[in-house]
Amino acid sequence: MSGPLITQPNELATAGVAISNLSKSFGDNLVLDDISITVNPGSVTALIGPSGSGKSTLLRCVNLLETPDKGVITVGSQTVEAGKRVTDRQLLALRRQVGMVFQSFNLFPHYTVLRNVAFPQEKILGRSREEAEQRALTLLERVGLKDKADQHPGRCSGGQQQRIAIARALALNPRAMLFDEPTSALDPEVGVEVLAVMRELAHAGMTMIVVTHEMQFARDVGDHLVVMAEGRIIEEGDPVDVMNSPREERTRRFLSAVL
Ligand code: ADP
Ligand code: MG
Repeated sequence: MSGPLITQPNELATAGVAISNLSKSFGDNLVLDDISITVNPGSVTALIGPSGSGKSTLLRCVNLLETPDKGVITVGSQTVEAGKRVTDRQLLALRRQVGMVFQSFNLFPHYTVLRNVAFPQEKILGRSREEAEQRALTLLERVGLKDKADQHPGRCSGGQQQRIAIARALALNPRAMLFDEPTSALDPEVGVEVLAVMRELAHAGMTMIVVTHEMQFARDVGDHLVVMAEGRIIEEGDPVDVMNSPREERTRRFLSAVL
C-alpha cells in the first residue's frame, strides 16, 4: 500500500450510525425483529451469525436498499423513520453518507478500473470527469492498484477487484462504510489484502459495520461484536469477551463452526 487511505484532514467526516427498533418482513417471514445497534463515530462493529439470520438485510436497510417496516435509521445528521414519507432528496442524502461493499464486487465489466471508480462520482456527486479521475487515481494508489487504472476489472484478481470496489465507495466521501462478507468469495491469501485495506480504514477513523466470518479481524479491529440469529440480536459486547466466553449456546455453536 502506498500511503494512508485518508489523508486530507477534512476528507473524513465520520458519523455515527444508530439503528433503532428496526423490523423487516418479507411476506410473513419476519427477517429482522426489533434490532437496535449504536455504532459510535469512528468505531467498528462486527456482525456475525448463521446464514439466513438477517445480516445482509440489516445492512441493506441501513442504506435503504430495503425499506424497513418499523424503526429509525440515523447516519450523522440524517434520519429516516419507517412509515414516514421519505422524499427522494432525503433518501439520496442518507444513501450518500453510507458506502457499501458487497461479497460480489459488482464492478462494471466494460469500464476500465479508472472509470469504475470515477463514474459514480460524476453521476452521484456531479464531479467533473477530470476531478473524478484525479480522485480515482489517488484512491487507487492508496489501495495499491494505480497500475491497474487502464485495465478492465476482468484482468484483476478477486482481491484486487474488491479493493477497487472499496476505492470506488471511498471516492464518494462516505461518513460510514458497510461491508457484507467482503472476503467470503476470495481465497484466504487474497482476502488478506482486502482485510489489510479495511484495517487501515478502521485505523484512519472510519465508522464501519462489517459482516464477516473472519474472527481474527473481528477480534483485532472490532470495537463491538453483535451476534444475530433468526432476525434478533442474541448476544453482543466486546469482541474478545464474546469470543472467549459466549453466554449463549447458539453463539458457542456458531463460533465453534467458524473458528
Ligand atoms: P444473512 O445475510 O444473515 O445470511 P439475509 O439477510 O440474506 O441473511 O436473509 C435473511 C432472511 O431473509 C432469509 O430467510 C432470506 O431468505 C430472506 N430474504 C432476504 N432477502 C429477501 C428478499 N428480497 N425477498 C424475500 N426474502 C428475502
Ligand atoms: Mg448475507
